[in-house]
Amino acid sequence: MQYEFVAQGSNDVWRTFNPARPSEEVGRYGVVPPGGLAALVERARSAQAEWARVPDVERGLVVGRFLDAVTEHADRIAEAVTAEQGKILAEAKAETLKGVAEGRFMCGEAARVGGSAAGSARPQVRNLILRRPRGVVVAICPWNFPAMTPLRKLCPALVFGNAMIMKPSQFTPAAAFLLAEIARPLFPNDLFQIAVCGGAQAGELIAMDGVDAVSFTGSVETGRKVYAAAASNLIPVQLELGGKNAAVVNDSDDLDGCLDAITGAALMTAGQRCTAISRVLVRDELGDAVVEGLAERTQAVRLGDGMHPQTTMGPLCNEPHLRSVEAMTARAIEEGAKAVAGGAAAVAEDCEGGYFYQPTVLDGVAPQSTGGCEEIFGPVISVIRYRDFDEAMEILNGTPFGLTSCLFSDSNRLVQRFLNESRNGMLHVNHGSVPDINMPFGGIKHSGVGPYSVGASASQVYTTEHAAYIGWN
Ligand code: NAD
Repeated sequence: MQYEFVAQGSNDVWRTFNPARPSEEVGRYGVVPPGGLAALVERARSAQAEWARVPDVERGLVVGRFLDAVTEHADRIAEAVTAEQGKILAEAKAETLKGVAEGRFMCGEAARVGGSAAGSARPQVRNLILRRPRGVVVAICPWNFPAMTPLRKLCPALVFGNAMIMKPSQFTPAAAFLLAEIARPLFPNDLFQIAVCGGAQAGELIAMDGVDAVSFTGSVETGRKVYAAAASNLIPVQLELGGKNAAVVNDSDDLDGCLDAITGAALMTAGQRCTAISRVLVRDELGDAVVEGLAERTQAVRLGDGMHPQTTMGPLCNEPHLRSVEAMTARAIEEGAKAVAGGAAAVAEDCEGGYFYQPTVLDGVAPQSTGGCEEIFGPVISVIRYRDFDEAMEILNGTPFGLTSCLFSDSNRLVQRFLNESRNGMLHVNHGSVPDINMPFGGIKHSGVGPYSVGASASQVYTTEHAAYIGWN
C-alpha cells in the first residue's frame, strides 16, 4: 500500500486497488463520519473569511507558488494517478502539468475581472459593477483525470477568494490528497479540504447551509442529481458532463495525419476522456480507407501496466466500468456493427486480473444504435458512413450530447458550415479533440450546464456580482 490518509478516529475506510493488478492495494482513505459534513462547511467558512481579505493580486501570487510546488511534485502525483487510474505514466504526468498550466493561466484572472465601471443615469453618481468571492464551493470529481480535474476547479476557486471542499472519486483519491498536502503550508487552515464520502453524502453536502456553489464533473446521470441537490439549496452549478464526440472526415490531403490525430484523441487514457473521439463520421468514398487505417493503428497499441515505459495503453479504471464497456460494445455488435479490430476484454503480460479492453474499431454503425449515440467511455471507435455533408451534420447533432467535435476538410465552405452548425461546446478543424490550456472548456445540451471552466467565464461560478451606485455632492 502506497497512500494512507486516514485521520485518527476514522472508522470507515475506503481502499483503492491498482486496475492493472487488482490484487495490489494502493491506498486507504478515511471516510467523513456521519454528521461530519457540517463541520467541514463551518471550517471552510471561517478559512474563506480570512482568505477573502487577502488582496486579489496577492492571492494569484500565492496560488502561483502552490503551482510551483505542484510542479516539483509532478512525478509523485503522476505515479499516484497511474497507480489508481491505470493510464500510462507519461499521460499522468502530462495531465498534472496541464492542470498546472491551466491554473497559471487563471492566476491573473482575479486581478483582471475584479470589476468594471458603467455609465450612470444620475448626475454626480458613479456606477461600478463589482465581483466578490462567492464563498464555499463544493467540487465533485470523476476518476478519469484525478489530478487535472481537481486543479481545474481548485485554482480558480482559490484565486477568486473562495474555500473549496472537494469530493474525489472513490477509485482515485490519492492525487487530490497529495495536492491538499502540498497546499497546506501555503493557505489558511481548512481552505482546501477533502471529503471522502459516497454519492448520497455528496448530495447532502451540496444541499447544506453554508455551501454557495457546486462544480461537478462526471456523468449525465449523476449530473441530474447534483443539479437537483443544488436547486434545493438555490446555489449555482457548473456541470461538466459526458459526450459522444465525433470526428467528421470529409476530405483530406493528408489522410494519414488525420487518422493519427483521430486515433490519438480516441485512445488516450484508454478512451476514458470526456472529450475522446468515439464516433468517426466518414464520407462514403473514404469509408474503407478510414476503417482500414484505424484498424491498422490499433495493432500498434501495447496494452500493459501504465508504469511500464513500453506500454502505450493501460487498463480501464475499475471492474464495473470494464463490465459496462464490455456489455455496451457487445450490444453495439448485436445491433449490427462489425468489430474490425478488438471487440473484447484483453489480458496483458504481468497483469493478472487487470481490467484491460482491446482497442476496438466498429464498422457499419447505425447512428441511433448503442455504438452510434451512447457514451461507451472506453477504447471503442464507431465508424458511421454518410453520403453528403447535410447527412453528416444531422448525424453529428443527433445525440443528446454536445461536448466536442472535429471536422477534417480543406473546404472553407464546409468549415464555415461546421462552425455554425455543430451543436457542441468545442469545435476543432483539422486536428484531434485535445483542448488548449487557455480556452474555455465545456459543453452544451446534456454535456454541460453553467459557465465553462478555464478563462474569464469561470468567474461566474466563483464570484458574485454587485451593482454599486456611489453618489457625491
Ligand atoms: P460519475 O458521475 O459516476 O461520478 C462522478 C462523481 O460524482 C464521483 O465522485 C461520484 O462519487 C460522485 N457522485 C455519485 N453520486 C452522486 C450524487 N448523488 N451526488 C453527488 N455526487 C455524486 O462519473 P465517473 O464515472 O466518475 O466519470 C465518468 C463520467 O464523467 C463520464 O460520463 C465522462 O464523460 C464524465 N466527464 C466529463 C468531463 C467534462 O468536463 N465534461 C470530464 C471528465 C469526465
